[in-house]
Amino acid sequence: MTLSPGVGPRPSPPMPADRPPTAPASFHVLAKPSGPICNLDCTYCFFLSKEALYPGDRFRMPDDVLAAYIRQTIEAETAPEVTIAWQGGEPTLMGVDFFRRAVALAEELKHPGQQLHHTIQTNGTLLTDEWCALLKRHDFLVGLSVDGPAALHDVYRVDKRGDATFAKVRRGWDLLQAHGVDTNILCTVNAANQHAPLDVYRSFRDDLGARHIQFIPIVERDNETGFQEGDAVTNRSVDPEAWGRFLTAVFDEWVVRDVGTVFVQMFDAALASWLGLPASMCIFAETCGNALALEHNGDLYSCDHFVEPDHLLGNIMQTHMVELVASPRQRAFGDAKRDTLPRYCIECDVRFACNGECPKNRFTVTPDGEPGLNYLCAGYKAFFTQVDGPMRIMADLLRRGRYADELMGILRNAPRNEPCPCGSGRKAKHCHAR
Ligand code: SF4
Ligand code: SF4
Repeated sequence: MTLSPGVGPRPSPPMPADRPPTAPASFHVLAKPSGPICNLDCTYCFFLSKEALYPGDRFRMPDDVLAAYIRQTIEAETAPEVTIAWQGGEPTLMGVDFFRRAVALAEELKHPGQQLHHTIQTNGTLLTDEWCALLKRHDFLVGLSVDGPAALHDVYRVDKRGDATFAKVRRGWDLLQAHGVDTNILCTVNAANQHAPLDVYRSFRDDLGARHIQFIPIVERDNETGFQEGDAVTNRSVDPEAWGRFLTAVFDEWVVRDVGTVFVQMFDAALASWLGLPASMCIFAETCGNALALEHNGDLYSCDHFVEPDHLLGNIMQTHMVELVASPRQRAFGDAKRDTLPRYCIECDVRFACNGECPKNRFTVTPDGEPGLNYLCAGYKAFFTQVDGPMRIMADLLRRGRYADELMGILRNAPRNEPCPCGSGRKAKHCHAR
């Protein structure tokens, strides 16, 4: 295994002697060791079309790119915690030995005082006891893709033959739990499950026993290229209003019984905004550009959602990733999130929490015709407006050194005929004290 720059099948560039001044102190690179290749054929997947970017390729990360990714990530990080992140396609297609080499190399290369965090996102269908033992031994955080109970999950998450996959995913989930692996459910919200928020949420909380959940809206452009082009979306995409109703319905259940025991990434991110803290998700930050995607061959792209030729920054076998992240091109990519915000967003009451969300979804026009409004705007506006009252209460509790979960008692025990403390204007008995 190549451990040093300049040694091995192909050398890769060393860390520059002077850190580029425009390099962020921390950034995040999601590596795709098998490129977009997957054993499933989820109908909404935006990666599958990326095969066309590398015609004839085997899509397997060679060991010299693996070594460069890990070494450069460790060298570039200024914080004591370093995250090595794997995604796909389906990264488990690389086999257990690839990841054994990856963790061994990371352990060998880490600097004194650095702590490694390994993460992997998977569809879970290929997991075995051998896999789970490795994931547990190295404290991987495993993101498992599940779209709800079987009937909803299986609408779009199918295998190459078009067959349902829920049973295999469930098997993978059970294996992970049996081994005590840290897990996180990644649930896309799409046209099939958008109207069943509580069925989806409760299936995770009650059937799977999940404690960490992420909801990801499917906004799939309807075009031939698979790139972020055009303003039409497929009929699998979530409806903007339904997205807002989905989040709000889950929030209303969570806020009276699950605060502090179930962690929904979107709600944690919102609470950070109400506390005036830096955004914990790039989509809600004022600027972005610090979450990049690494293809199997070392090509580094501006973002996982922009793996397309116009956003190829370079290759880490030729240029150290810290220089690519610091490049004027990548800084401009990140600043554009703020600089292209339409006036409608600038004047929006919930901009502090939303910031126009992700640029990939900004392809509609504002009511007065300005381009660049987020397709999901109506949903976010409704959701952030609706949660304002409870968020204020939780933020106030935390500022006073109390606990956010005290909110549940405040809402549930409110005098039934008085206005609900959430600020909805409804009597408590018709709102959160039902
Ligand atoms: S383009 Fe979207 S997903 Fe990518 S870094 Fe920016 S906000 Fe995050
Ligand atoms: S809710 Fe809509 S108007 Fe407000 S910041 Fe978000 S996208 Fe812009």
